[in-house]
Amino acid sequence: MKTVLVGVGQAGGKLTTALASFDEQMGFNAVRDALAVNTASADFQSIPLETLLIGQDQVNGHGVGGDNELGAKIMQDDLHQVMSALSSRISAETEAIFVVSGLGGGTGSGGAPVLASRLTEVYDIPVYGLGVLPGSNEGSLYQINAGRSLKTLAREADALLLIDNDAWKDSGESMSEGYAAINKNIARRVGILLGAGESPECVAESVVDSSEIINTLRSGGIASLGYASTPAAEDAAENINVITSTTRNAMLTGGSLPGATKADSALVIIAGESERISRKGVEKARKWVETETESMQVRGGDFPIESNRLASLILLGGVERSERIQRFMTRAEQAATEAAEVEKEAPDDPKETFQNDDLDGLF
Ligand code: GDP
Repeated sequence: MKTVLVGVGQAGGKLTTALASFDEQMGFNAVRDALAVNTASADFQSIPLETLLIGQDQVNGHGVGGDNELGAKIMQDDLHQVMSALSSRISAETEAIFVVSGLGGGTGSGGAPVLASRLTEVYDIPVYGLGVLPGSNEGSLYQINAGRSLKTLAREADALLLIDNDAWKDSGESMSEGYAAINKNIARRVGILLGAGESPECVAESVVDSSEIINTLRSGGIASLGYASTPAAEDAAENINVITSTTRNAMLTGGSLPGATKADSALVIIAGESERISRKGVEKARKWVETETESMQVRGGDFPIESNRLASLILLGGVERSERIQRFMTRAEQAATEAAEVEKEAPDDPKETFQNDDLDGLF
């Protein structure tokens, strides 16, 4: 799918970089252009993409902290700059725009919904959000920010592909050391999705194309992505079970929103060498996904790539009824209620708060 990426905020910029470099490394050429937008100039140091600093009048390149309302305001104020930087990148061949951000922070959390809203007004092509949910060990501000941002972005974008930061981390890593690994995992999985349909071998009828991704996301709301891969036998006939069991793993243990299985629509993509892909296996896998998602709208197809493995990628559209989302929203709402109570209990005089503080001084 010929895509233009806009990363907003720190996580947005880093993920956009990871996606663009995976696409280049694989030679998919699905990522046609990319831009990183931020209010913090220091975050650009590790970003080899075109960058655009916004909010200079308000925050002078220092970022917005965790203030996503300020993030939203700055994006609104500087929208014309961002839109004009994007207008030269979005062309007649662009099939989709992805606005990429961490939903728990400030710049991306607040800015992404504002930008997505404007982009959907101006362009006829789909505008998708790619949003990262804070891990469960992150503080309540992140959860509240993400809850508010997620609601708004899901409404403003044509669909919001959500990735839980707990989902694709490699075991044993702390959050901060783990970002690079998580970003790599996201880039591989989302990168294969974008690459589907861009394959030069795109001749067989069974090969997935961009319109199937767009149709799967057409119902809007929240989407998720599942992924698993397994070594494959040389012969397609021996890979029927490989395909069905890899698809089960992609859905049940490899999802970007763990536990989200009920969906309005789905697309099952089997990536690997054409000679190794069993048609019967793909059809069985598609049928299994139909039962599991309780959706009658399940598409299936191949993505021919050179590999001695077979991968199953499952895009689910309309997963907001899933328990995972409900649990996250409850967590965000609880955090918001607790924060409001703390504020209510706090005495009006800040001096009193300081004196009452249970925290011991250093001396
Ligand atoms: P912003 O710059 O104000 O938009 O804030 P951030 O992009 O730093 O957003 C903070 C949220 O994004 C937190 O929930 C972090 O866990 C998450 N985050 C920050 N950096 C990364 C990253 O490189 N990868 C991933 N997956 N998440 C990140």
